[in-house]
Amino acid sequence: MKKVLFLFAVALSLTSNAQQSKSLNASTAGTGLTKEEQKMMDYIDANMPRAIALLKESVNINSGSLNIEGVKKVGAIFAKELAAAGLKTEWISLPDSLKRAGHLVASTTTKKPKGKKLFLIGHLDTVFEPDMPANPFTILTDSTATGQGANDMKGGDVVMILALQAMQAQGLLKDAAITAYFTGDEESAGNPRAVSRGDFIERAKQSEVALGFEGATGLVTVATARRGASSWRLDVTAKTGHSSGVFTQSAGYGAIYEASRIINEFRLALSTEKYLTFNPGIMIGGSEMNYDDSKAKGNAIGKTNIIAPNTTVVGDLRFLTEAQKNNARAVMQNIVSTNNLAGTKAVITFQDGIPGMAPTEGNSKILAVISGVSTDLGKGVTVAGDPGSRGAGDISYIAEFMDCIDGLGASGKGAHAVGETINLNELPFLIKRAALTMYRLTR
Ligand SMILES: [Zn+2]
Repeated sequence: MKKVLFLFAVALSLTSNAQQSKSLNASTAGTGLTKEEQKMMDYIDANMPRAIALLKESVNINSGSLNIEGVKKVGAIFAKELAAAGLKTEWISLPDSLKRAGHLVASTTTKKPKGKKLFLIGHLDTVFEPDMPANPFTILTDSTATGQGANDMKGGDVVMILALQAMQAQGLLKDAAITAYFTGDEESAGNPRAVSRGDFIERAKQSEVALGFEGATGLVTVATARRGASSWRLDVTAKTGHSSGVFTQSAGYGAIYEASRIINEFRLALSTEKYLTFNPGIMIGGSEMNYDDSKAKGNAIGKTNIIAPNTTVVGDLRFLTEAQKNNARAVMQNIVSTNNLAGTKAVITFQDGIPGMAPTEGNSKILAVISGVSTDLGKGVTVAGDPGSRGAGDISYIAEFMDCIDGLGASGKGAHAVGETINLNELPFLIKRAALTMYRLTR
């Protein structure tokens, strides 16, 4: 009974949304939307309950990046929806050694496409693994809902899928060349990246414009640039001995003090640089310790009266351009190899992750199309968001090959935190914006 009431409430709130946006469209009729475009808008309004149902269904399947079965299940649900829009779907498997589920790809089969060839980007996985607290899809108020990946980015996947269905319903996909790519390991990509992103990059190269459906930061901003991500690992070893001798030249300072000195120096030297961030995510030290990179897990044994001989710190490093990344690495390397505390040795290693997506003129041209769409929908112009407000994303792997825009997905709060939310009231506009953008780019 509860369920029935709940669904009824959703349907009610969506109906009122639909009415709101209908009156919005009516008031802007004649200012830019063609008849065909208006029909797509009406389709989206009419199908919002289905959009929410799809969101709920996908959110309620745990699909942490390491949960291979869960990621495949979400992929199967989306594949069905994309096939319903007339797209050809396939599953890209990865070698077992990567311990990742693989990816879903859906493409139109148009022989002579019009306009730009589009590459749409989503992901099936979330940061929430099965051993983390469950958070079933729940409507919190009339306008927000919570659930694992509701915002990042099952909401964005739904935006993309409904927009494609809206195009298909008006026969507007038949002349379009569109490939929709949903990675299964965006939040924790399998290594080596050349394998986990090889097919993604190859297919993208056959397109001209990439549209990413990661979370929207506000209704009238999109990302024309994104920061890249990489990681580092600091290993400190030191003389051990009785704690009573600590701070002396002969006994030394131990590995924990030296590791602390180093990461504090990192902060002092680099923390105010624009677009640069680095975060020590785990620090383990003691008499005996181990850290398993593949599981992001470790343990330590130590005593308060023993100077710690081992410490490991692992962190990320985010940047806008390669030059910024390389400069930060040089500064960090210098801190690690100079002025070491007595009795300690430190080594830092860097690992490349996702490249940055630099702001380009081509990206700005696509932004202009999106801005035209949001103006025609009565929301005013769309502008480029601050690249510093975003992490890295799959779109960055292909940014050097084509024009790119990200942030076309769902709006909400608290991505990557338990209790993340999606704003359901804004979903109809975001789906409409996506559908109109894709349509206008493929004419
Ligand atoms: Zn995401």
